[in-house]
Amino acid sequence: MVGPFVYTALPTRVVFGRGKISEAAAEARRLGIKRPLVITTRQQADSVAALIKETGGVGFAGAAMHTPAAVTEEALAMVRAEGCDGTLALGGGSSTGLGKAIAWRTDLPQLVIPTSYAGSEMTNILGETADGAKVTRRDARIQPEAVIYDSDLLGTLPPQFAATSGMNAIAHAVEGLYAVDGNPVVSLMAEEGIRALAEALPMGKAGHDQALYGAWLCGTVLGSVAMALHHKLCHVLGGTFNLPHAETHTVILPHATAYNTEGSADAMARIARALGSRTAAGGLFDLAQGLAAPLTLRELGMPEEGLDKAADVAVSNPYPNPRALDRGAIRQLLDNAFHGRRPD
Ligand code: NAD
Repeated sequence: MVGPFVYTALPTRVVFGRGKISEAAAEARRLGIKRPLVITTRQQADSVAALIKETGGVGFAGAAMHTPAAVTEEALAMVRAEGCDGTLALGGGSSTGLGKAIAWRTDLPQLVIPTSYAGSEMTNILGETADGAKVTRRDARIQPEAVIYDSDLLGTLPPQFAATSGMNAIAHAVEGLYAVDGNPVVSLMAEEGIRALAEALPMGKAGHDQALYGAWLCGTVLGSVAMALHHKLCHVLGGTFNLPHAETHTVILPHATAYNTEGSADAMARIARALGSRTAAGGLFDLAQGLAAPLTLRELGMPEEGLDKAADVAVSNPYPNPRALDRGAIRQLLDNAFHGRRPD
């Protein structure tokens, strides 16, 4: 039986292809942007020099992980002082996040040029931090108007970050396949996204094109349907214990998948098919291991005595998940992830 379901298409325009960064100025003009705030991180400041010149923009190389409100205020002051009429963010989820934070406050149009696989550019979700607390917002103003995917920009991606960022993308698709508000179109994108990334990531630079295609699909899934236990756990571990974003997703994913195997047989079969593995959870663990990605929470700096608190927070507010939230079983999941035990 098919349905019932609800499907809402995302309005973001996507331009995909090697060398397409050369069309950034034209894409900005298409959005009516004559003077963009060109956003990136300090680490990628050199990558935007040409863009600033070509678009007539103003550079802001101060984006930071988890979108601190103080940085947003600084960038907003520059938008006002320089008369910027849009944003152009180049980078990973941190740069994209700052463009979204500005758009949420001003409704200025956004052009994003992603250089990691995080997928934020395809969602209307913004996570911001102020005074140590993380607030998540969802609003149409946050959704970027246009995205340029150019795999040439991934040439500088350190291999370790390419691996964890790719696993981060796969996590969106895994949870999309058993989402409470899932639908057949999103499931097609999710399975194809996992397949594309699982095949491309072990290829290193030769796989960047295909991995970026997979990341786009996985980001679209993230923007379209509700995430569950895996994203909740990563949010808790990142927010409460300050663990790094992509690495935490990589370590937790096989274990959250193993937890949800009960109650989502169809999703698990599709994930295993996309990975070419016997089981979904085991296949995800093997993929991460083959990429020499981190496999334990311990190596990410998680204190073992914090696992109880993480389990408490993960079950404190109910949210949809294919298997009922059981505090004891989630505590065991975290223990398995702490030690890096391979799930079946
Ligand atoms: P990131 O953007 O913080 O990037 C990590 C580091 O790698 C940065 O220093 C960055 O400049 C650098 N980098 C990125 N691409 C590079 C490249 N091609 N070459 C060289 N260096 C490069 O990390 P991320 O994992 O992409 O994003 C994580 C952030 O995004 C988190 O704050 C997370 O909460 C957010 N996020 C939000 C959403 C959403 O929908 N709102 C989705 C995914 C992630």
